[in-house]
Parts: sequence; structure tokens; C-alpha cells
Amino acid sequence: MKLIYMDHSATTKISDAAFLEMSQILKENYGNPSAVHSLGQEAKAALDKYRSRIAKCIGALPTEIYFTSGGTESDNWIIRSVCEMKQSKGKHIITTAIEHNAVLKTCMDMESKGYEVTYLKPDRQGRISPKQLENAIRDDTILISIMLANNVVGTILDIPSLSAVAKKHRILFHTDAVQAVGHIPVNVRHLNVDFLSLSAHKFNGPKGVGLLYSRLPNHLKPIFTGGGQEWNGRSGTENLPGIAAMTVALEENIASMDKNTEYLNCIMHRVTNRLLGIPGVHQTGDPVNRLPGFCSFVVEDIPHSVMLVNALNQRGICVSSGSACSAASKEASHVITALGYVKNLATCSLRISLGMDNTMEEVDYAIESAVLEIDLLRANTVSKTLQSDQRTSNIKKTIWAVEK
Ligand code: PLP
Repeated sequence: MKLIYMDHSATTKISDAAFLEMSQILKENYGNPSAVHSLGQEAKAALDKYRSRIAKCIGALPTEIYFTSGGTESDNWIIRSVCEMKQSKGKHIITTAIEHNAVLKTCMDMESKGYEVTYLKPDRQGRISPKQLENAIRDDTILISIMLANNVVGTILDIPSLSAVAKKHRILFHTDAVQAVGHIPVNVRHLNVDFLSLSAHKFNGPKGVGLLYSRLPNHLKPIFTGGGQEWNGRSGTENLPGIAAMTVALEENIASMDKNTEYLNCIMHRVTNRLLGIPGVHQTGDPVNRLPGFCSFVVEDIPHSVMLVNALNQRGICVSSGSACSAASKEASHVITALGYVKNLATCSLRISLGMDNTMEEVDYAIESAVLEIDLLRANTVSKTLQSDQRTSNIKKTIWAVEK
């Protein structure tokens, strides 16, 4: 059976151009950028070139780019750094209840080390207001970390308004832009952030490579010690093939962003309109300010969304019940719960994240499959309830007969 991949928020397939760039570096420009001989120096020159090119993609300077292994590392690095730097006088962090676990669990770890964390609760659509942020700020707040786009419901948050509040109070601002970069325009100056995390595998680059943008180099505590790479911030031989492929993938995505957005939004509306036509299916997240191609719902009257995801998988369709990290978990999604949905619904969230490879035919097949499988799951639930009611009634009759 041909697989229909509709889980692009979990990860994406590497693009041909990125793959080619990566293979060429692996095969030909394999020198260590720290080596003094010509092959090493060629690799160093290539590294500098990719650093400048990717910096340009997000409106940054090359000296503000620190290559990492991806979103999780970048998020961990900046939160732990800001807390542990000598300049940080306070012990209070502000974040939101809908962040990815890379931010949430790091903040929780900081709590165990004596820091206090405020988890802002978003509105039903996943938005945080500047006023709400302002009210949470304290004299000892050292860092605000708020994501640019949510990975479960696709809401794009208004970072410029939120970072303006941080600037007014002279508090450092980090944004996890892992879901946004490559899909919507991202410029660190327009966002007015001090730090930003991104990850290549979310925009057709390879896995295991990303970067941390830092406007303030002296706020980065070395994450690894060793050879002193990345301005002493992250020792270890640079992943040049990954960095090269990430750069090419991002440049490609930016060059075709307008065209991609138009198509992705067209197929997103097709899926959304059809599924919202089913009684008891509700869209999650902001209906307007959302990532292109990102469809997210909660489905009433099904036992659990993992059952729906498995049923669609049987039909060759790959979708998700929430974020990739917790997709198999039977727990309610922390994001959907934070949006205020009751537990029964929070365990029934469905994410269909579309990509440029998805044809109209595939989209229609996925829609009809989802409609059918929701119906089947509901019918099964009703018949199980009836059977169980029947069993209870039979038991009661038997007890009654015995007692009589
Ligand atoms: N932040 C967000 C919003 C994400 O969606 C993800 C991955 O799903 C991450 C961070 C972690 O990124 P990585 O997989 O590169 O570690």
C-alpha cells in the first residue's frame, strides 16, 4: 500500500537539493573545519559560507548563529544558560503551558533547582495576550520563553507584541520557532527576540541539526567543553553535511514560501471544511493565524484519538494524535488541556499536517477515510455501550431471579 504522509509537523522528508548538498559534503568536502591543511580549510570556508547564508534566511548576523543538534538542544541550552549566567540576578522564568516539552521539561528541571516558573495559560485558541504577560512579570524575572507557533494546534502567536513587553521591562526573550521556520516568514529583528531555536528536520532538512540564534553571546554558557568550536559555546566537530543541507532546505522553502502557502492553505481548508461538517468535530487552535497546511481537531464520541490514528494508518494514512513525542501516549495532550478542553475531548485530538507532496487526490482519500473511520469508531462505541447495558441488565435479571 502506498503511504500517504500527512504528519509534516512531526518531521519532513529531506528535499532532493538538501540531500545532494549533504552527499557532496560527505563524499568530497569531508575535512575537519578545525584542521589546518587545505581540506580542513575548505571545510572551514564552507562552514562560514553556510553560516552566513542561514543567518541571512532569518535576518541575523553570522556571528549570532550557533549550530546545534536541533530544537531540543537549542531550547535546553538557552534556558539553562540564562539561569546559570552570573548576570542573571533573579530566579523567575515565564513561559506558557502550551510549549513543547523541550521547553516545559527544562523549566520544570529549573524549578527543581530553586527557580520559579510561571506557566501562562493561553485562551481557547492558543493565544497569549501582552497584558497577561505584563501581569506575570516580576522584579526577579530573568527570561521569557514563548513559542512562535504551536506544534499541536498550529496557532501562530503574536511574538512582536509579546517581546515588546519584555523589552519594556528589560527582560530577555526567547522564542521556540521550530514549527514556524521554513513555513512562515521569520526574521529575528522583526520578532525583536534575543534568542530563537530552530530545527532542520521540520523544513525538509535532515534530522539532528538545528541552531540557536543569540543576539547576546555573553549569555551563553558553554553547553559542551572541548575543542572550543562555535566560539567556545559548543565544542565538538561541526556537523557540516547537516548544516549544509539545513541551509539549502531553508533557502528553498523561503524561495517557494508564497506558492507553498497558497497550496497548503487550499488543501487545509478542504480538509477542515469537510471534517467540521461532521457533528461533534471541532477545530482546535486559531482559525486564522495558523501554520499553513496545519489541520487540528478534537473529535467527540470516540474512545481515544490513538484509535483513529491507527485506523487511518491501516488505510495507509500517517497522521498524529498530537505532538510526535507523545503521539502514542494515552494521556490527554497537555496543550489541548491547557486550552480548556475537558479530559474526554483532550484525549481525542487529531492533527493532520499537510505538505507539498500531498496531492488533491490524497487529500480527498484522507478526508473520506477520516469521515468513515470516525463513523465506525462511534458506531462501535455505541454498540459496546449497548452490549454493556444489555449485560448489566442480564446480570440484574439473574440476580433478581436468584434472590427470588
Ligand atoms: N519545539 C517544538 C515546537 C517542536 O515541535 C519540536 C519537535 O517536534 C521541538 C522543539 C524539538 O525539536 P527537535 O526534534 O529538533 O529536537
